[in-house]
Amino acid sequence: MSAKKRVVLLGATGSIGENTLNVIRHASDDLELIGIAGNSRSEELAGIAREFNVPHAALADESAYRESRNGGIFPPGCRLACGEEGLTELATLPDADIVLIATSGTAALRPALAAINAGRQIALANKEILVLAGKFVTEAARRHHVRLLPVDSEHNALFQCLEGRQPEEVERLILTASGGAFIDWPPEDLNRVTPRDALAHPNWSMGPKITVDSATMANKGLEMIEAYWLFDVEPRQIDVVLHRQSIIHSLVQLIDGSILAQLSPPSMTFPIQYALMYPKRVPGIQRSLDFTRIQRLDIEPVSGERYPCLSLARQALEAGGIAPAIFNTANEIAVNAFLANSLAFLEIPKVIDRALERLENFEPQTLDDVLCLEEAVRRTASELIENKAWKKTS
Ligand code: NAD
Ligand code: MG
Repeated sequence: MSAKKRVVLLGATGSIGENTLNVIRHASDDLELIGIAGNSRSEELAGIAREFNVPHAALADESAYRESRNGGIFPPGCRLACGEEGLTELATLPDADIVLIATSGTAALRPALAAINAGRQIALANKEILVLAGKFVTEAARRHHVRLLPVDSEHNALFQCLEGRQPEEVERLILTASGGAFIDWPPEDLNRVTPRDALAHPNWSMGPKITVDSATMANKGLEMIEAYWLFDVEPRQIDVVLHRQSIIHSLVQLIDGSILAQLSPPSMTFPIQYALMYPKRVPGIQRSLDFTRIQRLDIEPVSGERYPCLSLARQALEAGGIAPAIFNTANEIAVNAFLANSLAFLEIPKVIDRALERLENFEPQTLDDVLCLEEAVRRTASELIENKAWKKTS
């Protein structure tokens, strides 16, 4: 019997984290969890440590860390670390084989880079890390011969379709998009959309931010940028099509005109298992598709008018430099304002558009350039929301 693959999971208490734990429970002959990190949900993290007998854990939030230490809620065999340093310690554990980055936001950016610099394999669910710092992350991965195994379902599908292909054989990458909650709403009704409406995703069960991003297609915009960094193609080689059933996870068009696709039910356990077990295939944790029950698989073109966030993301990708980072952070602030009822749904792209206009683009030279920029974008986007700047000039 071959040795088990030792997994560190950053973001163990989130939605991807939960699916990952299901995969590890199922593949316990092949996978062993040796490190887990979360932000502040200490009881939940301690429960995972107990169930999987995990020797290393970290909490990013300092007060949650202190309370947990004082309360002794983690099992005796589990060493608990704290903050970004704690996440980095886990990401670089000498006996780890693969680090799955499933945190939200940019909290795991430095730990992810440290893991790459230490030569650990990376399974990447978090898209913000690539959108903000794709240049630095992919440079480090190249330097240290580390493979970035994509967990985001579209990129995992592209990765599977690209296996064994040479870059010059690839014509286009085609990302599929479900169209989100409002795919069939008349455009005039989008004026009165509420957060509750936006959170009703037709196919996937995910956190609120990414569900709103699906409704605006900002998520697909972020995924175009993610694909650019992962697969080393030109922006013009990345397309998006509507596929409302979320069964075809993406497609690759080759230069001879053939198109390859990857299909599976809309559950993250498929891409997570593939990334963790790569390159091995083992029986899946869930059933595959039953074609006696699937009535149709539709593919349609996307309307740029209906999804302005997608056009803005393409603009940002083509502009390069810090434009994708501005897109990402301005969108995040706008979505939070929408969820707090202080911004209309149709105003989300306006905030992004104005932020891209206001902030001057440049080529970041260091990671700090990008991290400092985040604060400036947050300020600008918040001001735009407060002043409703677009109402004055348009
Ligand atoms: P989530 O909000 O459910 O979970 C986030 C996890 O990150 C939690 O474990 C939380 O404790 C941790 N976290 C948050 N802030 C942290 C901090 N400052 N320090 C340390 N840990 C922190 O999010 P999710 O839906 O699981 O998504 C995680 C990432 O994967 C996101 O980047 C998302 O875009 C991406 N993704 C998610 C899905 C999905 O189906 N949910 C699909 C594709 C990609
Ligand atoms: Mg996706």
